[in-house]
Amino acid sequence: MTTQKSIQKLINKYYQTCSFEEIEHLRFFILDDNASLEEKIKRYKNKQKLINSLELIFKEIVVQRNELAMENGYRDYFHFALDWYGISEKQTQSFMAESRLVIKKIVSRLPISGDISKDYWGKYSSPNLPLVIADKNSYAIPDKVYTFLESKNIANRETLSRIELKQYPNRYFYTDLDKQRKKVVVKCNLESTTSVGALSFAHEMGHALTYLKMIDKNVDPESKSSYWHEKRAILTEMEFEDSLETKVRDANRDRILYQFVLTYFEYYIYSKSDKDFANLYAKANRFCYPTKDSSNPFYVLNTFLVDRPCYSAIYSYIYTELLSRRA
Ligand SMILES: [Zn+2]
Repeated sequence: MTTQKSIQKLINKYYQTCSFEEIEHLRFFILDDNASLEEKIKRYKNKQKLINSLELIFKEIVVQRNELAMENGYRDYFHFALDWYGISEKQTQSFMAESRLVIKKIVSRLPISGDISKDYWGKYSSPNLPLVIADKNSYAIPDKVYTFLESKNIANRETLSRIELKQYPNRYFYTDLDKQRKKVVVKCNLESTTSVGALSFAHEMGHALTYLKMIDKNVDPESKSSYWHEKRAILTEMEFEDSLETKVRDANRDRILYQFVLTYFEYYIYSKSDKDFANLYAKANRFCYPTKDSSNPFYVLNTFLVDRPCYSAIYSYIYTELLSRRA
């Protein structure tokens, strides 16, 4: 029998092979750095063996997760996880039917100018369009977002002062709920001045304000599904998104596309019999980006796939639902 414990053992093996910090560093080194394509290829070749070992362990994790799902009466782990997150089969069907159009709409509006390198969509790159476009504005955290929330009457000063902010220099921000102390702590990079940072912060504010409302009404936040919570957060994020210049807003949707890539990739690896994951990752990339790569092993540099399996589907489904309704 497969258990969460045996899967956890494999996850530990993954991080023993390459620590979280090391993976973050490699990801930056191979995908985000401004180095030339030749240099990045060289860096990859030097680490190819390590990346191959991670691929093998990741495959084992996927096999075991599927076994666990089937033992619980599910078709595969993708459907198992989504059910757990509060997503129905019907929502998966609408996502499959509507996402193509949403992807097309986002891609057609990306403010891509001539100075963006043709390698931008290639596998040795990760989406960061908001940082590439010329944008003189500063989006200081928390001021820029707090001013916005107050101006729209989404929250007042008093409520905002109840949210504790903690410096957290990670790429992903995080909202912690301390049920015992009835406190909400948002871990974010308070030094960030980019639109990406402000949008992520607005998203976390959506979580934090929802938690506070529920605490005040004596409702247990955990009584609601992950999907329900993420929808509240994304609605706040989208309200803030509306306040951005069109070009900045469109550039930031590049990030949304990346969530679609991850969702399609996870759908493929858990539900298809094709076990060439590098192939399937390239396929997911081709579905969302104008790229021609036929193989891409760099999914192993995204720890989200290891730690929060199929979680990006929640984001993708909500973005599809909201964006397909917009002009
Ligand atoms: Zn969230």
